[in-house]
Amino acid sequence: MNRLFCTVAKNVANNNSTSRITLPRLAIFDLDHTVWPFGIDGFQYTPPYFYHEGQLIDVHGKEIRHFPDFPRIFELLQEKGIQIAVASRTKYPTGAYRLIDLFDWHKYINYYHIYPGEKIKHFERINKESGIDFDRMIFFDDEQRNINDVSTLGVDAILVNNETGATEKIVRESLENFAIKRNSSSSS
Ligand SMILES: [Mg+2]
Repeated sequence: MNRLFCTVAKNVANNNSTSRITLPRLAIFDLDHTVWPFGIDGFQYTPPYFYHEGQLIDVHGKEIRHFPDFPRIFELLQEKGIQIAVASRTKYPTGAYRLIDLFDWHKYINYYHIYPGEKIKHFERINKESGIDFDRMIFFDDEQRNINDVSTLGVDAILVNNETGATEKIVRESLENFAIKRNSSSSS
């Protein structure tokens, strides 16, 4: 095979990979202000949490809600074959797990990393546990410091507004951008 042919063959292969859409294999969500509009360890809601007449409430009867686009976002990701993880630095992991139980989200979530510390550690453990490379992960969080930290690993990290959390629109757009970014970097 001569050199010219090799070059042409390589370009054809690259063009093919450019037109291919690549989805992440794993989507990771922060919890506080990303999936629900409060910090669980701020104790705005006093445990225990439970359902009363169809409403999830705290011990004082205050209603507890997640952001409106959940669990639709989880369903959308599952339909696309993308696994789901949660990564939270909360100081009250028991409360976070309790809410996930009560929201009935265990059927969506594959990996749980809920404990204080640097988020980079959470991601190193997620990588080990899942076997999924950082460059096939997409991450949603409302704090810029977490976005900065996790980006250094090569994860596609998306900052969300802490008042609206992750929305279906943001997730859909981020999946599209993920494909564009990955396909353009694989052809260069
Ligand atoms: Mg947060």
